Amino acid sequence: MSDSKFSNEAWFQRAKKSLPGGVSSPVRSFNAVGGIPFTAVKGYGAFIEDVENNKYLDFVQSYGASILGHAHPKVVEAIKSATDNGTTFGATTPNEIELAEKIKDRVAGVELLRFVSSGTEATMSAIRTARGATNREKIVIFSGCYHGHSDFLLAAGGSGLASLVIPSTNGVPKSYVEHTVVTTYNELPIIDSDVAAVIVEPIAANMGLVEPEKNFLSELRKICDSAGALLIFDEVITGFRVAKGGASELFNVRPDLWCFGKIIGGGLPLAAFGGRRDIMEELAPVGKVYQAGTLSGNPVAAAAGCAVLDLLEDDSYKILKSKVTTLATGLREVIGQRGIAVSVPQVETLLGVFFGPNQVKNFESAKESANTGKYKQFFHEMLNENVSLAPGPYEVMFTSLAHTDPDITKTVEAADAAAFKMSKTEFLSY
Ligand SMILES: *Cc1c(COP(=O)(O)O)cnc(C)c1O
Repeated sequence: MSDSKFSNEAWFQRAKKSLPGGVSSPVRSFNAVGGIPFTAVKGYGAFIEDVENNKYLDFVQSYGASILGHAHPKVVEAIKSATDNGTTFGATTPNEIELAEKIKDRVAGVELLRFVSSGTEATMSAIRTARGATNREKIVIFSGCYHGHSDFLLAAGGSGLASLVIPSTNGVPKSYVEHTVVTTYNELPIIDSDVAAVIVEPIAANMGLVEPEKNFLSELRKICDSAGALLIFDEVITGFRVAKGGASELFNVRPDLWCFGKIIGGGLPLAAFGGRRDIMEELAPVGKVYQAGTLSGNPVAAAAGCAVLDLLEDDSYKILKSKVTTLATGLREVIGQRGIAVSVPQVETLLGVFFGPNQVKNFESAKESANTGKYKQFFHEMLNENVSLAPGPYEVMFTSLAHTDPDITKTVEAADAAAFKMSKTEFLSY
């Protein structure tokens, strides 16, 4: 089938006939930025190509699932050779044992792990385990942090009373968020003795990029300890992205449980949660917390994950960080030079772009930035320059190891052209 004779527009119209909004996940839609999304046919290294043979420098990289770039030959080879032996058995395989060992080697404090197939399952199951281990029901989350789409995690703080929590989406019964407390990122919450766990993105990367303020995580650790609550780091993005040992290594704060996803599946559906042995042994078949999955620890995904982790050494993070630093410096300069208020936060290998004059430190300030509407125009001008960013203001830019120095230079030049147009034209709606 020769897909390329169809336009993006035609594929989008066709997609909408079979998939709600034309997508399998809402972040992929262009609802937040307007216009027709492209339909991707392939990716190689830093690039993604659409059905019209347009090639874009890709800073989405499957929302961070890819850190080596698309279709890395070693990863493709690992997937092919794993597939030759069958794709799923319903029995433990050497691949998942090896992947678990590689994760434990890298993240100090992870003693036991369980594999699942998505980040959503990882956080959901980590919280069930924490509740089982503590015999408590309440959990504390921070608004603007994303932990997947489990019912009880799709909660928003109501205005006024801190205790008033409401579902953040239709379809979730009020009673399902009854035990969820929503608080503000970068502010220490009150942890009562009925709290099972506090779950946090150690570096918030789902409201744009928000760095934890100095001591936020270490203080969180302390107040969890005094309340007997467990601390869960959702490292689905930061794990193996910001340092070899992830954010817990970077900030030298050790949670009780970790959630991993994205990178560890090497581009296939795989995620995990793990941590202290005594807590993880609450899980069936050792303990009494039930958790299961037909495809959990899938041998092909585990082989891909092993291939990726094998290629990530301390040096890889230095190299990636230097690319991201060049990009951040360049973006700040060229956008700022056009008189557009912007901040470009960087935490190690992660980078965000916030338009507007305010410094963003929590979801409230992230919303103010998003409400400037500037990101939409930036997004489209960058796409015109063949640079693909996430189609929404609450995402970060994912740079891969496949992005070369000339690719970074080209991206900064594209941003310069984009900022020039933004400074000259009123925002056109797309
Ligand atoms: C992506 C993400 C998840 C959810 O993972 P899925 O695989 O999409 O279910 C959870 N937590 C964080 C921090 C994420 O970025």
